[in-house]
Amino acid sequence: MVIISNLSGLEDVLNSMEHKSIGYVPTMGALHEGHLSLIQLARKQSTFVLVTIYVNPTQFNNRKDFDKYPNTLDADIRILESEKVDALYVPTFEDVYPNGTDRLPYFDINNLDLILEGKYRPGHFQGVCSVLHRFISLIKPAKLYLGEKDFQQVKVVDTLLKNYLNELDVDLVVGPTVRDAKGLALSSRNKNLSIQGIERASFLYQYVHNQIMHSQFKNEDSRQIELRFNEFLLMNGFDSVDYIIIADPNTLKPISDFNSQARIFIAVFLEGVRLIDNFELL
Ligand code: AMP
Repeated sequence: MVIISNLSGLEDVLNSMEHKSIGYVPTMGALHEGHLSLIQLARKQSTFVLVTIYVNPTQFNNRKDFDKYPNTLDADIRILESEKVDALYVPTFEDVYPNGTDRLPYFDINNLDLILEGKYRPGHFQGVCSVLHRFISLIKPAKLYLGEKDFQQVKVVDTLLKNYLNELDVDLVVGPTVRDAKGLALSSRNKNLSIQGIERASFLYQYVHNQIMHSQFKNEDSRQIELRFNEFLLMNGFDSVDYIIIADPNTLKPISDFNSQARIFIAVFLEGVRLIDNFELL
């Protein structure tokens, strides 16, 4: 695996491999099985797999969250080598933001950046768009791999590709959410939870599967279901709930009954760690 640490190194690698089709997996590092599932998918589908590790400051609306984001670069490199990744790009800040971050262009992504996560993390998706627009423009991948764990991010990036990068004809591949044995979605932020916290965090999965998927609720108003879930979490040791919303998976707008297609979106705090998850409601 070639490790690229600056823009000219990236350009050298890209120029030397013109005819290969790149499968690109963007990450913020602290790699876990969720990332690996995307990398393995890319390995199967692409002749050249490129991974970026970059903790992007502009997508953090909370400085503390940015500061305590885990960094395990040495371990990550070993993992990527064992997965036979072709190239890892760990860019500098200047590579990503050559003109600084004070006057970044605004990305019109059909207001998808203003709801759910966007409402609670103002500017977050503009930051995601900034960094991915930069990386995709430089790397020009044939395929881009994203996880369903960040369902709204998938929608945002899909819109970014259509609205701003259409000429590159990037194929967006979405991988399923990888969970631990008790259903907790793997996340780099889980590294900041205690053992008890990890145990408790799986209540999200268990409640959705045991209470909400259950057909007895199918005629109930979504808002009632959300309220009850909220109460359950607060009674069971969660610090707070940013949102629990049952929404249409295409528009991400709340829906009141979910006899048709529906997905539940969750953002909660536990032990000071912000956890997000989403589930298709069948
Ligand atoms: P991150 O490093 O958190 O920016 O995530 C990098 C990519 O991995 C994103 O496309 C995420 O959606 C994806 N990802 C994160 N956690 C999981 C998971 N548990 N299962 C599948 N994909 C994931």
